[in-house]
Amino acid sequence: MDAAAVLVCALNLLGRSAASMPPVELLVHRPPDVSANAEAFVRHGSGTISVLTDTATFRSAACGPGPGTSLVKLASILAHEASHVRDGPGERLAYEAQLRTLLRLGVHPKSRLYSGVEAAMRVAVANQQRREKQDAEAALAHHPEPTLPLLPGTSDRDGPDELPTSRGQISGTTPRGLW
Ligand SMILES: [Zn+2]
Repeated sequence: MDAAAVLVCALNLLGRSAASMPPVELLVHRPPDVSANAEAFVRHGSGTISVLTDTATFRSAACGPGPGTSLVKLASILAHEASHVRDGPGERLAYEAQLRTLLRLGVHPKSRLYSGVEAAMRVAVANQQRREKQDAEAALAHHPEPTLPLLPGTSDRDGPDELPTSRGQISGTTPRGLW
């Protein structure tokens, strides 16, 4: 099926008119700095959602009658990336928007699709917190402030360095500069 037609069907499923969504572009080739398991991304400050067409999800997505799991997943990915355009790089917000979309489209919270997105969320949020912590520590190393406690108020947010989820299951980390 024509990639542009699949995209239109996913947007229709979301129920968003073209005007209320950020611009979406289809990419046939994965840019070298985009991780191997990313299905879509937003570059910082670009305001455009880039959707990779050479992915298992996109290739198996097809328009109705009755949206299949892949089209539903594609629609939820668009909701995730639209959150990044609207709300910034926070992975928690973006995944929450994605999970809400899955529920709205009738996906069961115990389904493989839903729990897969939840697992990806845990990994992405943990990775993002670890990067923020490293950046903060690097900043402190350059500008030591020995009279102040280190990063007051952030200790309980950081949580454990590793979550029980095996990082091997969902390998890629998002390179810096991409959401
Ligand atoms: Zn994201």
